[in-house]
Amino acid sequence: MADSRTAYRTCPFCEAACGLELTLDGDRVTAARGDREHVFSHGFVCPKGAMFGQLNDDPDRLRRPLVKRGGEHVEVEWDEAFDEVARGLRPILDTYGPHAVALYLGNPNVHTMAGGLYVTPLVKALGTRNVFSASTVDQMPKHVSSGYLFGSPLTIGVPDLDRTDLLLMLGANPWESNGSLATAADFPGRLKAIQQRGGRFIVVDPRRTRTAGHADEHLFIRPGTDAYLLFGIVHTLFADGLVALGHLEPYVTGVDTVAELAAGFAPQDVSAVCGVPAERIRSLAHELAAAPRAAVYGRIGTCTVEFGTLTSWLVDVINVLTGNLDRAGGVMFPLAPHLSKGRGTGKGFRVGRWHSRVRGLPEVKGELPVATLADEIETPGDEQVRAFITVAGNPVLSTPNSGRLDRALSGLSFMVSVDPYLNETTRHADVVLPPPDALRKGHYDFSFLALAVRNFAAYSPPVVPFGGPDECDILARLALIASGREGSADDVHESMVRQALSRANLETASGSSPAERLLDVALRSGAYEGMSLDLLLANPHGVDLGPLQPRIPEVLRTPSGKIELSFDGLAAETDRLRGALDRPRDGLVLIGRRHLRSNNSWMHNVPALVKGRDRCTLQIHPLDAARLDLGDGDDAQVTSRAGGLAARVEVTDTVMPGVVSLPHGWGHGQPGTRMTVAADHPGVNSNILTDETTVDPLSGNSVLNGIPVEIKALAG
Ligand code: SF4
Repeated sequence: MADSRTAYRTCPFCEAACGLELTLDGDRVTAARGDREHVFSHGFVCPKGAMFGQLNDDPDRLRRPLVKRGGEHVEVEWDEAFDEVARGLRPILDTYGPHAVALYLGNPNVHTMAGGLYVTPLVKALGTRNVFSASTVDQMPKHVSSGYLFGSPLTIGVPDLDRTDLLLMLGANPWESNGSLATAADFPGRLKAIQQRGGRFIVVDPRRTRTAGHADEHLFIRPGTDAYLLFGIVHTLFADGLVALGHLEPYVTGVDTVAELAAGFAPQDVSAVCGVPAERIRSLAHELAAAPRAAVYGRIGTCTVEFGTLTSWLVDVINVLTGNLDRAGGVMFPLAPHLSKGRGTGKGFRVGRWHSRVRGLPEVKGELPVATLADEIETPGDEQVRAFITVAGNPVLSTPNSGRLDRALSGLSFMVSVDPYLNETTRHADVVLPPPDALRKGHYDFSFLALAVRNFAAYSPPVVPFGGPDECDILARLALIASGREGSADDVHESMVRQALSRANLETASGSSPAERLLDVALRSGAYEGMSLDLLLANPHGVDLGPLQPRIPEVLRTPSGKIELSFDGLAAETDRLRGALDRPRDGLVLIGRRHLRSNNSWMHNVPALVKGRDRCTLQIHPLDAARLDLGDGDDAQVTSRAGGLAARVEVTDTVMPGVVSLPHGWGHGQPGTRMTVAADHPGVNSNILTDETTVDPLSGNSVLNGIPVEIKALAG
């Protein structure tokens, strides 16, 4: 181990942004542990971060581009691969126009610097309206509700975990996920600390998750009905005189509108639908109002439902009405080091600048709902999607009715994927362009530092030199091809750095790569005096920037300069919710679930992360199992409007009666993929069952929870 050395870097695998201490032998990672000196994570690491070396050195990871020849993917040189992309894309763009090319941005884009810096130039170069992303799989409702409330879809409040006394969590399972839209390394430890200082956290979920198991209280709720519970709380706040805006008083409009809308949702009216006793709904309102510092936090389970935007809006409405928004221990707005402070007003937020061709679904945040991607590919007509670019992600496993999308992708004229794996989606690509592994590129969390529960900054430079095109180069070359311009990736980089310097009124930038120089410009022109790339390079364990600070009114981007509780479409959506009170709800419904050793679909190719008993089981309550004559380990046929599959049954009272659960991200082993370990642990794809025809109408988000299903035993 003569070459043994240590490197510190931010873990790029999830939103928690933990610091890792890596031991390297040459260019191989021999050990990964939590960085004890890291200013944010203080040594915490989960099983995924500890597997950094195995993930990085996965023998199935692509290291050279692939081109499909005669139905087989073969390795080629980079120039040949880009020539092939130009041959495939240009004729489609020239003949059918920009909208004939669709772009899908997978979740890992928010974990790379290239995603933060080079996706926008690519989107601009393509000029297509058909941009899709993982945001409409699981989080667009939060962007939309934040957009209406605060004026920007990126102004998202996070629970001030380290100072709160009472945390109400809905549809979130951070014991497994380590948090989402709230960056909190060691989220479980921060929850335990609430209890240790005499506070409480309450979990609302159709499953008794690991998080619920540690909570002071777990309330079962029928999937997709959180909006009723939350409206019941809002109703009580008004009815019992508990509304107290406190310091927010001068900065809120629309309180009367909320009171009127909540009038039809008394706890006794919503209790039967959501399954939470009316008295408990009332007392929750009183506890939230009385707690010195309280926060309501909703995540995946509140977004992936039919009333996702209304639910996300209600979460923050309660934070506002109880005076807990923007105060210590409530829900606060982080200030990331690469961003500037606001002016307290702005243009506000709107949707529907264009609509999808086939279903007429509105654009949100520059993109269309991924639930309609297959429609756009399959439906003939002007502007039919004929070519497809994916940058990370695996929509064939992660989007609703993925069986249909899988079939649609086989009908494309051309497809190119920027991805390190030949997976269920990229197997359809004519060209696959693999980015370098995490050791060979710099890392800065453009997205998650803006969602962190404590302000901090960290940058990880590349640990191992890399000679080939990196992710920024790949996206720059694709942008050049899309725009039809001559030139090299370096031309794109230089132009971007020049423009950034000019915007920031700076002369030069530090850094040994274009991404580093762009980061340096952003840091030096950001909110913190003295911040720069050089400062972060000199502090490998990160720079602590202190607890979250109140930011209202500066953070607001609404035209009024206030938190606008009311918005166009709110009354109609509330009417729709009221109308759904009487819906029959007697059948079984499907929900997803998350596991600590998994992250969507792409962690299933590491033996240590998939070993042990089969995790891809259909959980069902003992009462339902008995009624259907199902026992533990039996095989069951599960059928929905979209499709059907066979799954192994796990009888457990951790799901409530009437609810069954399958984890997402499985369904490996398809022909043409090259993920050996995953193929040996295929599981079943829960998105065969989810339905692309139903979305949350305000955000276009997919509905992945509360799917009506029928289940019957399969003959053994
Ligand atoms: S919690 Fe997330 S960031 Fe932290 S070690 Fe695990 S995967 Fe990495």
